[in-house]
Amino acid sequence: TREIRLVSRPEGEPSAENFALVETTLPDPGPGEVAVHNLAMSVDPYMRGRMNDTPSYAPPWELDQAALGAAVGEVTASGSDRVGVGSLVLHGLGWREDAVLAADQVVLLPRREDVAPSRYLGALGMPGRTAYAGLFRVAAFRPGDTVFVSAAAGAVGSMVGQLARLAGASRVIGSAGSKAKVDHLINDLGFDAAFDYHDGPAAELLARAAPDGIDVYFDNVGGDQLQAAIGAMKLHGRIAVCGMISQYNATAPTPGPSNLALFIGRRITMTGFLVADHDDLADEFASKVGGWLADGSIVAEETVVDGLDHAVQAFIGLLRGQNTGKMIISL
Ligand code: NDP
Repeated sequence: TREIRLVSRPEGEPSAENFALVETTLPDPGPGEVAVHNLAMSVDPYMRGRMNDTPSYAPPWELDQAALGAAVGEVTASGSDRVGVGSLVLHGLGWREDAVLAADQVVLLPRREDVAPSRYLGALGMPGRTAYAGLFRVAAFRPGDTVFVSAAAGAVGSMVGQLARLAGASRVIGSAGSKAKVDHLINDLGFDAAFDYHDGPAAELLARAAPDGIDVYFDNVGGDQLQAAIGAMKLHGRIAVCGMISQYNATAPTPGPSNLALFIGRRITMTGFLVADHDDLADEFASKVGGWLADGSIVAEETVVDGLDHAVQAFIGLLRGQNTGKMIISL
């Protein structure tokens, strides 16, 4: 079987040389362990942080060890009564074709004809839950709100916009990095307006898309789009600070928004959050979003890359915007 190891740490943008695809052998599972054949693995923006040897909420990947991340797979051998052969499971040993791990480290997933396993890495998994918790709890969404979300054609952003629409937003605006993604937001996902952030100063593009201002900004990118969003905030606006991907490859401090003083006069709330703080929403999330996905109310695009040998390019491509919706590696 094969796995991908981190072999060096990047300065700035990661490159293929930071990784190595390695042949390895695995032991049979012992008592309390399971062997899993992975069907799909996730690449996520937070993994850029795990390539650095600096303390963060997710510990750094170790050099010359297989990288870690979410994967969905099928149990092929089991030393556990709880997790039988053939079970579909979610676990943390991605970046490899096969894994042997403790049975209590896997989450059993329902096997459903109408739900592809990769959904548990995207719309019905961590990114979907991030959108749900961030919009409804952290940003305290209310029907009638005008909502702006950045990286809107990605895994989290595409769910934020659609959930806001389904929950009664008066206007949903998204930004993304290409004309094709902007068209996708409007034509496929039901956004009311969208712009390509390369097309000019963010503040001007946002003002055109949201002439009356915004109530909620779901921030996935930071930088000048955050500054533009603060400038467009209505009274009592709320910002959920989910991610700042425009800064993940930065090698020098990036200039911050210069208009934070507007928080005061407009009584804006801006709240950072980690999806893991909101695990108590999991059941509510699964039943609502599962229903919307099943009846077609939510569109969950995936960019699927085939095979472990393309996983590194997929991860680098994710940081450059080569995905629409959730980036998945099928194994
Ligand atoms: P996406 O599927 O959105 O993929 C990343 C996207 O970021 C790319 O497709 C690209 O799209 C965009 N991007 C890359 N560079 C820039 C840039 N310089 N400026 C603006 N956009 C850029 O990833 P996810 O949905 O998984 O994650 C989205 C955000 O949410 C990330 O910031 C991530 O760290 C954060 N996150 C936070 C969590 C939490 O618990 N707080 C949990 C999960 C995710 P484009 O073509 O539009 O540029």
